[in-house]
Amino acid sequence: MIDGFYAVDFQVHSFCSHDGKASIRDQCLRAVEIGLEEIGFSEHKDFDPADPVVDYFDYERYRREIEKAREEFSGALMIRMGVEIDYQRWFEDKIAVYLQQHPFDFVIGSVHYVDRVPIMSDAYLRDRSVVEAYRLYFQAVHDSVRSGLIDIVGHLEYANRRAVPRLGPYDPSPYRDQIMMLYEEMIRRGVALEINTAGLRQGVGHTYPCEEHIRLYAECGGRNLSLGSDSHRPEDLADSYSLAASLAVKHGLTEVSVWENRVRRSRTLQGA
Ligand SMILES: [Zn+2]
Repeated sequence: MIDGFYAVDFQVHSFCSHDGKASIRDQCLRAVEIGLEEIGFSEHKDFDPADPVVDYFDYERYRREIEKAREEFSGALMIRMGVEIDYQRWFEDKIAVYLQQHPFDFVIGSVHYVDRVPIMSDAYLRDRSVVEAYRLYFQAVHDSVRSGLIDIVGHLEYANRRAVPRLGPYDPSPYRDQIMMLYEEMIRRGVALEINTAGLRQGVGHTYPCEEHIRLYAECGGRNLSLGSDSHRPEDLADSYSLAASLAVKHGLTEVSVWENRVRRSRTLQGA
């Protein structure tokens, strides 16, 4: 428990990700220290052949390290083996084949690029208005949900990581209808919304997504919530967890989802 909340972190990275800065064991030690019930590793798996780290992820190594950690932390911590898929529509078939051959407990779909271009980079913003740029990003997220391949939408509004420093504060109002359609698709397909606290560490000034869109999710009837810090090092594990859990509860999202073998269960978030 953390501050009276059932405590999980389902967006966690280790050296099994190209940008990880901790071992699986170190992340688990930290998880026990701060009182997490469950930790869900979500290592990066990329598919774009032009990406220099495309071949970094090693499924067998990951599985071995998870198994070792499960033995060591047995009875102290639930350890889930997930993946964060970089989603781009043009390699959707590759993702499908990969997931058939490589079982995980849960799959996060994250949009970092659209058509090979990093979202909100110079190249991305060329020839596009800001509103078009956001709309295209949200459309890509919608496509990831429609693919039927993912359990969780990762860091919705990640576009703001680059957009806020260069364009200033984010106004979500032009995207309300598009986000509502996205949420309806997610609810229909049983895909979870993640509250990811990395935005608070990345100078964006809000969680991914922002509070307005957490509220809208609940208003649309969504109740399938994942909580994650996007920690790449132990110091960030479950970072701002109480804040994220409080935001959820404030808007009526009183349960948090956990996954095993792609099967979802929910846990009461507060005061169990
Ligand atoms: Zn990501």
